Amino acid sequence: MSNGCGELTGGRRICAEGARYVEKVLRGSPKTAIMACEGGCIKGEIARVAANILAYQSERDASVRICLGDAVTGDSGFVDLVKKAPETIVIEGCFLHCGTQIMKTRIPDFNPTIVEAIRLYSFDRDKYFEIFDMPRAEIDQYAQKVADHVQQTKFQGNDINVSTLAPSCCSCSPCK
Ligand code: SF4
Repeated sequence: MSNGCGELTGGRRICAEGARYVEKVLRGSPKTAIMACEGGCIKGEIARVAANILAYQSERDASVRICLGDAVTGDSGFVDLVKKAPETIVIEGCFLHCGTQIMKTRIPDFNPTIVEAIRLYSFDRDKYFEIFDMPRAEIDQYAQKVADHVQQTKFQGNDINVSTLAPSCCSCSPCK
């Protein structure tokens, strides 16, 4: 039975809007799947916004945005997009790679291309954690930088020496 928001028949968890998006994408050629860790802090927000910029703007024709929650727990089709994608890129907020780890609970052999966003920008981690602590323009600026890097390295094939990037291991003083 549909309640107008989604399909509830048989216990299947379907987001109507998500399923419509998936259906439209599946009508075309397979696209690169773009995911983010979706973390609730500054690092997660920047990863999330970077994924949005890539899939909805800069690489709109070549990629598709995956809802992590639905891909792991739902039946709207996002997991099918991941399985059919020639490549999946997960933009992770930090070295914990939560997006990838969460996805492995549904696809145990999930093996995406991982981009650690925090290696591409820096901010005062002692000052900021909550998303609204940082001006929106600054978040968007970092997210654009991450999205540009992914576009150049993963879609345009430009080689960038990763040894020149910032470390990502933790937030201790030497690594900040
Ligand atoms: S990868 Fe880092 S930023 Fe993203 S959810 Fe996990 S701990 Fe948070």
